[in-house]
Amino acid sequence: MYLSSVHSFIQHHNYPSFQPKAIFFDMDGVLYDSMKFHASAWVSAMSDIKIPFTQHEAYMNEGRTGQSTIDGAFQLHLGRNASDEEKNKIYKLKTRYFEQMGQTQKMPFAHELLTKVQSQHLTIFVVTGSGQITLIDNLESSFPGFFHKERLVTAFDVTQGKPHPEPYLQALKKSGLQPWEVMVIENAPLGVESAVAAGLFTIAVNTGPLDPQVLKDSGAHLVFNGGIKELYENWDSINSIKL
Ligand code: CA
Repeated sequence: MYLSSVHSFIQHHNYPSFQPKAIFFDMDGVLYDSMKFHASAWVSAMSDIKIPFTQHEAYMNEGRTGQSTIDGAFQLHLGRNASDEEKNKIYKLKTRYFEQMGQTQKMPFAHELLTKVQSQHLTIFVVTGSGQITLIDNLESSFPGFFHKERLVTAFDVTQGKPHPEPYLQALKKSGLQPWEVMVIENAPLGVESAVAAGLFTIAVNTGPLDPQVLKDSGAHLVFNGGIKELYENWDSINSIKL
């Protein structure tokens, strides 16, 4: 099943081979079990400025930059983009609500998966729409020894966030690798769209409340509905595929 997915992927792109040397990890919803906090924080912040915004919308918008999420909600309800002042205000509110929710937990089996990936000499990148200033420090304290600021793409590195392919294309450029030398691990529909549009083999893990079909429909080459645990348990079979 994995082999046939890889086959159709390389055929579709007319790539000469499939030889993964790096894994591009999304962060929220993959490394951290943080999406429920982000979703609640968005709902509260939008509610403060009288914009209706549901948990489901938060999950469907996951991966966008904060600015883009705010513009999307403004377009839907007010027919215009938010001003910079409005964006700053709402993003500050959202960040404050998020921080009040306490320490985000690591995703179960994320540490085990990173350990395995590192032991297989695959380079680890993080590609996130997040704009937290302390992101690399947080990653280092949660998962010591896996991450490096040179192998990180955040909201500060891109002009267009997910679902645009720019974040994953930036990571590819930083890696110096070819698109057939990378696998992506994503949990959100827009993140999957971004990675697929960048021409990369994309594994979706469903770690939230969405129907897994949404991830398939976004173009994911493999979908694991059992979260990172199921991916971890199947990792060696996936990583053994070299074409
Ligand atoms: Ca995510």
